[in-house]
Amino acid sequence: MSGPGQRPLEGRVALVTGASRGIGRSIARELARRGAHVGVNFQSNRDAAESCLAEIEAEGGAGELVPFDVADADASNEGIGGLASRRGRLDVLVNNAGIALDGLLMRYKEDDWQRIVGVNLGGVFHCCKAAARPMVKGRWGRIVNLTSVVSQLGNAGQGPYAATKAGVEGLTRSLARELASRSITVNAVAPGFIDTEMTAALPEAIRSAYVGAVPVGRLGTADEVAAAVAFLCGPDAGYVTGHVLAVNGGLSM
Ligand code: NAP
Repeated sequence: MSGPGQRPLEGRVALVTGASRGIGRSIARELARRGAHVGVNFQSNRDAAESCLAEIEAEGGAGELVPFDVADADASNEGIGGLASRRGRLDVLVNNAGIALDGLLMRYKEDDWQRIVGVNLGGVFHCCKAAARPMVKGRWGRIVNLTSVVSQLGNAGQGPYAATKAGVEGLTRSLARELASRSITVNAVAPGFIDTEMTAALPEAIRSAYVGAVPVGRLGTADEVAAAVAFLCGPDAGYVTGHVLAVNGGLSM
């Protein structure tokens, strides 16, 4: 069993999608602290991704930038395949990149539907597909997909977002069965309301109402989500697969 101060991911190579900001950035930093070489993926915000990598290096960790749009199957395949061939392996994939294009059903734009499905669901599929080959070759792997409490609870104005996250949970359980015999685990982490740019965009009254509904009485932090993800990426979680781990302050009880 790994203990405090140890580096259970030493020698491992990880890719975190959407690692420039928010939860993904915290996950990338935590995996690097635990010893992994971390591919820091982003779509457009290069400055933020570079500053994430600088933080990793300042803490004695290592990584590299791996930019691509997860909605683009070819770009995802090239980005992940390139990292695996440069480092000779890929052990950990965290599918964190996601967007929240909120809107009520009757006003929802077709373009927004295509985009949210393309990024949140298609992106996870493309990246899992690209990562599976090097993981099967290495006969070890950890895939963690970020979903959301709203896939379970539903939320008015977030139907498309909730549908993509529920889809990812179905994909998670199916891939867990498909890849289990190769020592590759596939799990999801479903955060509740976490203090990031995504939730900062909510009007104050809605934020306060959310906080009021959370038993622990506050928003969660990106570091609290990262700790749960890092556990599932580590050697101690080898007998956990197909699981959706709620990190939501008790919101879904
Ligand atoms: P965020 O602060 O908005 O950051 C999103 C990240 O995803 C950024 O790094 C962004 O890159 C990247 N990204 C967006 N579209 C991308 C694409 N097509 N290809 C590659 N990267 C892309 O988000 P967050 O709040 O940290 O959320 C992270 C994940 O947790 C998401 O899956 C979200 O649905 C889930 N989640 C969040 C909460 C919450 O309360 N915040 C709750 C439940 C679930 P750029 O910087 O280049 O734009």
